[in-house]
Amino acid sequence: MDLGLKDKVAVCAAASKGIGKAVAQVFAREGAKLAICARGPEALGETARSIENETGAPVFAKTCDVSDAAAIKEFIAETAEKFGRIDTLFVNAGGPKPGTFDELDDEAFQAAVDLNLMSTVRLIRETLPHMPKAGGSIVILTSISVKQPIAGLLLSNTVRLGVVGLAKTLANELGPRGIRVNVVGPGFVDTERSRSLLARRAKQRGETEEKIRAEQAGKAALGRIGETVEVGNLVAFLASDAASYITGTTIMVDGGLYAGSL
Ligand code: NAD
Repeated sequence: MDLGLKDKVAVCAAASKGIGKAVAQVFAREGAKLAICARGPEALGETARSIENETGAPVFAKTCDVSDAAAIKEFIAETAEKFGRIDTLFVNAGGPKPGTFDELDDEAFQAAVDLNLMSTVRLIRETLPHMPKAGGSIVILTSISVKQPIAGLLLSNTVRLGVVGLAKTLANELGPRGIRVNVVGPGFVDTERSRSLLARRAKQRGETEEKIRAEQAGKAALGRIGETVEVGNLVAFLASDAASYITGTTIMVDGGLYAGSL
């Protein structure tokens, strides 16, 4: 299917590695012009070069910590200056600190709110003035934790629900302007972060990482851990005109890991 993303301007936040990088790659393969950010310049530069070499897409890369309001302002303003508009925004950030209630203090809660909720508010706020009059699309990455709490990830289970509430409300507020807002919730996808979560679980239980990984894979209906490109494909679809009547939804990409019927 041609997603019609050719020459669209797509911003992908937190995109030097993992899911964010895969989303950026899929957008570029579809012919979009890209702006990507992450905190560390080295991995970010490498990702930008590899995407440009593979696809020929222009990639604007800027270091930006998405928990920093001023850094977001600069990143989006420079993107708009370079490309003249922003058609699509993919909101992403690192994951909040793992832990149970007794392991997390006020500072950890505040950091998670800044990293995962306020980054979403600020990226959207800065981007909206640059979206064309004809409309645009926003896709926000959360987690399966918004439907099914994950043991040991209390901050993800808590803060990401605020993001879903924000997205649903914004879908209503921005619908008349032709701007669609959707949320994607990955299950368990093979990345640096998910590997470190498995290592933490293995250590806590005194088991091998291989055993914990096989156990995690077996929980999904499809019996395996997901690939980042499988998340990228869903994000690109939701961002594109192929999803022109889809807004205000939260869709899992989890190989059937979510246990409920609805
Ligand atoms: P990852 O660690 O592989 O990649 C994270 C990316 O975000 C990197 O490019 C990193 O540089 C960037 N980043 C981190 N903190 C940032 C910040 N403050 N500002 C800017 N960039 C920042 O992680 P991932 O697995 O791709 O996870 C991405 C998001 O998806 C996280 O919020 C994670 O919790 C969520 N998630 C992941 C999975 C999974 O199975 N991998 C499942 C559900 C949700």
